[in-house]
Amino acid sequence: MPTTLVFVEHQDGQIKRSSQELLQIATQNNQKTLAVAFGSHAKSLASACAQNGAQEVHLVCDSKLDHYNSELYLAAMSVIVEKTSPQFILASSSSVGRDLFPRLAAKTGAGIVSDAIALTFEGSNLKAKKPLYAGKCFATAEFKNCSSQIVLMRANQIPLTTVAAGAGQLVEHSLPATDLKTIVQEIVKGSSKKMDLTEANIVISGGRGLKEASNFKLLHDLADVLGATVGASRAVVDAGWVSHDMQVGQTGKTVAPTLYIAVGVSGAIQHLAGMSGSKVIVAINNDANAPIFQKATYGIVGDLFEVLPKLTEEFRKVLGK
Ligand SMILES: Cc1cc2nc3c(=O)[nH]c(=O)nc-3n(C[C@H](O)[C@H](O)[C@H](O)COP(=O)(O)OP(=O)(O)OC[C@H]3O[C@@H](n4cnc5c(N)ncnc54)[C@H](O)[C@@H]3O)c2cc1C
Repeated sequence: MPTTLVFVEHQDGQIKRSSQELLQIATQNNQKTLAVAFGSHAKSLASACAQNGAQEVHLVCDSKLDHYNSELYLAAMSVIVEKTSPQFILASSSSVGRDLFPRLAAKTGAGIVSDAIALTFEGSNLKAKKPLYAGKCFATAEFKNCSSQIVLMRANQIPLTTVAAGAGQLVEHSLPATDLKTIVQEIVKGSSKKMDLTEANIVISGGRGLKEASNFKLLHDLADVLGATVGASRAVVDAGWVSHDMQVGQTGKTVAPTLYIAVGVSGAIQHLAGMSGSKVIVAINNDANAPIFQKATYGIVGDLFEVLPKLTEEFRKVLGK
């Protein structure tokens, strides 16, 4: 049985949804699934890893790993890869994944594919499907002559389900001494308590059609009712209306929620690159020819200042909020 190592990202003591998906993908494809988690509280994740199919849970429970540091994470990951020799390594295509795993690939001679949206396990080979040219076409990548095969996968690609639980055997490792060139001195958290855009099940994005920053309140009102996270187009980020961590698109975040509501967003190709993997897309725009309608599952041609309050009110009634 091939061995797949899954790098588990976690926040506030919970495994991130994207990592749960990876554990389940490995388990559903008959892999011997090994989970890897770092940080002083990593041990508390062990049973959740096992529930998602992990046979073994490899931990480096060191407080130096509580915040991401590329050198320390690379050192810790290298130890585990050396000891477990996995055929496949899966991680999220998150900012941590995209920083850490190219370094690991360079260090260990592994092959790497990022931004995957689907995987096919074929014996000792892994094929990864990924979008190219801002989602205009798809490529299927496979590996040749590499020590192991690393795939970074986008979040929200499979529905979570119940899989056969793994044994979840704990294996603890020590952090090797590392001569650090950089030290993280402080992490300043963003003010939003909402789920991160890349993990959110419902995203409501606003564009220049909102006219000014204060009108984002209309989106936040609807988001509060639906339990959604608010995103934005680059035009409004560049205008300084909202912060860059809310930007969806080619130079922002890639999201794939169950429901994406685009409000006053034209649907430029660079915006579509970040959200066209959404399951259901609703567009609200007063221009019937706006490109966003070509991608939309449902379109509302109308003035957002009339449509949004009505929509929020109606959802409030239906959901009893
Ligand atoms: C290299 C590069 C990278 C880029 N990366 C990104 C990226 O990551 N993300 C991104 O979003 N963009 C990105 N862009 C910018 C992109 O090309 C567009 O300029 C941007 O997405 C437009 O934002 P917008 O849709 O909010 O604004 P606009 O294009 O101005 O669209 C506003 C829309 O609001 C509608 N509207 C106006 N008033 C109302 C109303 N009252 N009710 C309803 N609808 C209304 C209009 O009909 C229009 O369709 C990038 C561009 C480049 C060159």
